[in-house]
Amino acid sequence: MQTNFTAEQLTDPHVAEAEGILRKCVHCGFCTATCPTYVTLGNELDSPRGRIYLIKDMLENDRPADKDTVTHIDRCLSCLACTTTCPSGVDYMHLVDHARIHIEKTYRRPFMNRLTRNILALVLPYPARFRAALTLAKLGRPFAGIFKSISPLKPFGAMLELAPARIPASSSFARPATHTPTTARRGRVAILTGCAQPVLDPRINEATIRLLTRLGVEVVVPEGEGCCGALVHHMGREEQSLQAARRNVDVWMREVRNGGLDAIIITASGCGTTIKDYAHMLRLDPAYADKAARVSALAKDVTEYLVSLDLPPQEKKGLTVAYHSACSMQHGQKITMPPKLLLKNAGFAVKDPAEGHLCCGSAGTYNILQPDISATLKARKVKNIEATKADVIAAGNIGCITQIASGTAIPIVHTVELLDWAYGGERPGALADR
Ligand code: SF4
Ligand code: SF4
Repeated sequence: MQTNFTAEQLTDPHVAEAEGILRKCVHCGFCTATCPTYVTLGNELDSPRGRIYLIKDMLENDRPADKDTVTHIDRCLSCLACTTTCPSGVDYMHLVDHARIHIEKTYRRPFMNRLTRNILALVLPYPARFRAALTLAKLGRPFAGIFKSISPLKPFGAMLELAPARIPASSSFARPATHTPTTARRGRVAILTGCAQPVLDPRINEATIRLLTRLGVEVVVPEGEGCCGALVHHMGREEQSLQAARRNVDVWMREVRNGGLDAIIITASGCGTTIKDYAHMLRLDPAYADKAARVSALAKDVTEYLVSLDLPPQEKKGLTVAYHSACSMQHGQKITMPPKLLLKNAGFAVKDPAEGHLCCGSAGTYNILQPDISATLKARKVKNIEATKADVIAAGNIGCITQIASGTAIPIVHTVELLDWAYGGERPGALADR
């Protein structure tokens, strides 16, 4: 694609990067076929190609974001299916990240939209605040329908609907500690506790720590780590996301110096995509660029790390698992085979639901901020999963787990909970009656 940036504009490294990305796009439109919003809404401006044109126009003319551009960029799930499909290697992720920062700096959103986004950014990344908010949401749940019937209040209705009926007690596994291996030591890793996941489902990291220590891996839950920054990053709140990244880089580099790390284990693929991008996010910060690159290189989804441990095959379990590949797993991190290979090796029959490339509509806070599109995508995803007639659904991202669970009676667990069970751990609670 031909671009018309001035030499002066290109002195800004962010604009220069965006220009390089834009030039790679050849307008072929292959990406439209796999874009969930284009497939759902049928509007070219809700396709990757359409958004690329909007971003190009906004950046080239150096103009503040307008309502139309914001509407179509906001509808993007950042699922990155377009980056898997694009034959020209267009780096849509970094282009839309840059567009969102530009929007955040130049566009004043309507009051209710600003309020919702501020609440999300002030609550979700902090486990104690999130837990308190979920407790309040439980009380408000019966009124979700009323909120959803009033357009500006719809996001609050979606929030109330998503709030779990039961909030698990906080887990001792989320506290800073070193978990020593129970068999011959074969490695040392740090685990990301994260923000929303330990509140919504602490069993995921409990299963991970139990499994890894049983396999001979020392697991450190470092003091001082926190939210990876993905949530605010996707809102275009650059400084807040960089602060989160710097804090976590400092914490993990301390562990690298104090005992060495073979990996930083991440059990939520949405966080994994962002932490693997720290190298890029902090590339212009001389104090952090090298350290962030080291951290990104160490970041591993738990399934990526487990395949490197060569686990022995297990007897057949007689259970069929529908494997839901989160967008951040398959498109963001390009991890497709390891989770399924691990599950098969552990004795489960694995099925791939149809249209596995399409997002479930969770996408961070998308199911709150864009509840209608999200609900359509959820219904489509659940229909495809239920068609597999599986006994259980496995996924590697808490956002997808929460979203899909709200639409089906089939139990859903994190992949690592099934693996922990297969290799000597407890049967996942969600499968108690199966
Ligand atoms: S990230 Fe997903 S929703 Fe956004 S343009 Fe690409 S395919 Fe479409
Ligand atoms: S597939 Fe790639 S090159 Fe083709 S229109 Fe989409 S982003 Fe551009």
